[in-house]
Amino acid sequence: MNIVVLGPPGAGKGTQAKRLEERYGLIQLSTGDMLRAAVASGSEIGQRAKAIMEAGQLVPDEVVIALIADRIDRPDAKKGFILDGFPRTTKQAEALDRMLAEKGIRLDHVIEMKVDDALLVDRISGRYTCAKCGAGYHDRNQKPKVDGVCDACGSTEFKRRADDNAETVSKRLEAYHAQTAPILPYYRAKGALKSVDGMAPIDDVTVALGAILDGAARPKAKAKPAGRAKAKPKAKRAGKAKAKAKKRPKARKKPARGKRKARPARGRRPASKAARRSRKPARRRKK
Ligand SMILES: [Zn+2]
Repeated sequence: MNIVVLGPPGAGKGTQAKRLEERYGLIQLSTGDMLRAAVASGSEIGQRAKAIMEAGQLVPDEVVIALIADRIDRPDAKKGFILDGFPRTTKQAEALDRMLAEKGIRLDHVIEMKVDDALLVDRISGRYTCAKCGAGYHDRNQKPKVDGVCDACGSTEFKRRADDNAETVSKRLEAYHAQTAPILPYYRAKGALKSVDGMAPIDDVTVALGAILDGAARPKAKAKPAGRAKAKPKAKRAGKAKAKAKKRPKARKKPARGKRKARPARGRRPASKAARRSRKPARRRKK
């Protein structure tokens, strides 16, 4: 099963991808991690990427695609992958499709994690962590029990990511929407796009994702004809049964009526006489 998870930074893609990874035995492909790993490994692609990044330039799509192609060829990717944070543009989506098509691999799901921008800005800009142990907090949603003291380790030093401020988050969201907006219709046209509410509690999002993935674990193309094939014979059988039910009673009723008419004509008179005889003395005896 191969999945792309779309969503702006802070939508919880990484958290959910990690859960899907464990549950379905997939590998999570984060392009940032792959780039760092490639650079660290000193591979040919890694060296190329390193030179580009050191020059302060964005790594070209072809390099990222090559990294993904290399990664999904490895044995641990047999069960499938989750692409998180890629593709971001329609160009990247097309390049990804071409690379996968060459390998005979298809994307099973493209899942959009929908967010409320204002809520997301609040969620991200309010977060901070303990400088000592890394425990996560939030200005309003998750304050330490004692103001200014870490619940976990008692440290009084906290840190905030420089880019976790309202202005930067708003800009990131704008950029995401501007770039990614065309990808949604691209995947929607392929019938692969599904959405989940990324603002829901983390566990609810996991449940929603599971429903999508489990629901479509049975191939759609096979499920539909099977459903039709089953429905048709049932209708035919029902039709035949109805036809038989209509014919049989008619055929039976006619002789049955004749027999009933004939038999009672003979049988009723003596039976009724005998009954009258037997009843009358019985009543008389009782009275
Ligand atoms: Zn701490």
